[in-house]
Amino acid sequence: MKLKKKSVLVVGFARSGLTAANFLLKRGARVTITDLHNKNTLKEHISQLVGPVQLSLGGHRLEDFLNTDLIVLSPGVSLSRPELQAASQHNIAILSEVELAYRFVNGTVIGVTGSNGKTTTTSLIGELLKNSGKQSMVAGNIGFPLIQWAETQYGSGAPPTTVVVELSSFQLETIEKFRCHIAALLNLTPDHQDRYQKFEDYIRAKERIFLNQTSGDHAILNADNPHTLEIAERCKSSVLLFSRKRSLEKGVFVQKGIIRIRSKGKNHDLMPIQNIRLIGNHNLENVLAATAVGLVAGLTPKTMAKTFENFRGVEHRLELIAELNSVSFYNDSKATNIDSASRALQALTVPLVVIMGGLDKGADFGKLRPFMADKVKLLILIGSATNKIHKALSGTVKTIAVSDMIEAVQQAHQATVPGDAVLLSPGCASFDMFKNFEHRGRIFKQAVQALENS
Ligand code: ADP
Repeated sequence: MKLKKKSVLVVGFARSGLTAANFLLKRGARVTITDLHNKNTLKEHISQLVGPVQLSLGGHRLEDFLNTDLIVLSPGVSLSRPELQAASQHNIAILSEVELAYRFVNGTVIGVTGSNGKTTTTSLIGELLKNSGKQSMVAGNIGFPLIQWAETQYGSGAPPTTVVVELSSFQLETIEKFRCHIAALLNLTPDHQDRYQKFEDYIRAKERIFLNQTSGDHAILNADNPHTLEIAERCKSSVLLFSRKRSLEKGVFVQKGIIRIRSKGKNHDLMPIQNIRLIGNHNLENVLAATAVGLVAGLTPKTMAKTFENFRGVEHRLELIAELNSVSFYNDSKATNIDSASRALQALTVPLVVIMGGLDKGADFGKLRPFMADKVKLLILIGSATNKIHKALSGTVKTIAVSDMIEAVQQAHQATVPGDAVLLSPGCASFDMFKNFEHRGRIFKQAVQALENS
């Protein structure tokens, strides 16, 4: 791909925007950067630029989008933005940062997408490959942008690498040639209703993970989810399904508490599910998906079982952070939608005090009723969605509203007795009170730590 002297607009100036801008600058492009935040907020990133750029900050200006050869989007930017719609009508090329990176990466791509479980499954697959001694790495929406890997690898003489890429629906909207040799679609449940007008649009964006696959590639899909199962019928690649709920003619599934592999006429028992270290049915589904990926990648069942026995999970995902007077504290700050919050409520079987709330993404909190009744002693609400959640759930559980995380943790502690658990599983985005979900999780952990110290 020729970049020299091309004018390129980078939309979004977080970590991957910064890396993309530097990548483009080093290859002779004329770069403009636009972001909704202002110069002051972004000063740290500005200082890390390796060459001169034009900055168009504190909002997006239509003329930047129309007077450029190419637009490169950061992972969180949706194609539905009016400026991007206008650019598209003017036939200006729009690419995701992952698409740009793909043109420069040497190796095989394993892609992972879905409404929930992407980071956990991407990490699991990364561990499987590492423990199998394969030249591999994880990238994408997991804290290490693919463009950063392209920057490190391109022209370095490094050997071809298998790279596991976590992909969001926004990133997939603007792929063009990006092709996954193995692509996994974990599940599809409503999310981002604030950004997609219809659930079908969201499904269509996710389905693009299979877009450029051919018959020599592999598609891994969830047989228990009606939407992913329907997509399986449209895949051009070789499909392998996974199921937690039923046995399959071909695929990876659970039968009598054992993970079974049935592929190419062969049966193999991988391991008893009780030996998996991660908790909850949702994590069992992630393990099944990772097993299916491992299987088509040629990994041995023995290495896979050992990896699942040892994998402790990823920070902020149903993470056990403390035991205080026989009360367990779980940080599930990454539960930013209803399905993930409901999964945490189902995974924990003891009486719960739950901290929930934040910025609403158009969710139907009433769907949590069946998982709260009988189990949740107290629901503590924080953030701007407080009233909406209270209205949706007040008949089912006792709710109180608090002003910050410290108060939430103190109230939660007071409401517990030995044997209970406190769960932060917000079911909302974090941006009303925190920088991001990691920040929210860290503040929760600090509040629990302060309780422990006192
Ligand atoms: P993602 O990267 O898709 O956001 P994560 O692995 O970061 O997924 O997990 C996000 C949240 O979803 C966490 O609260 C986690 O406990 C929950 N979760 C993980 N896997 C699944 C799954 N397969 N189905 C539903 N919820 C899940």
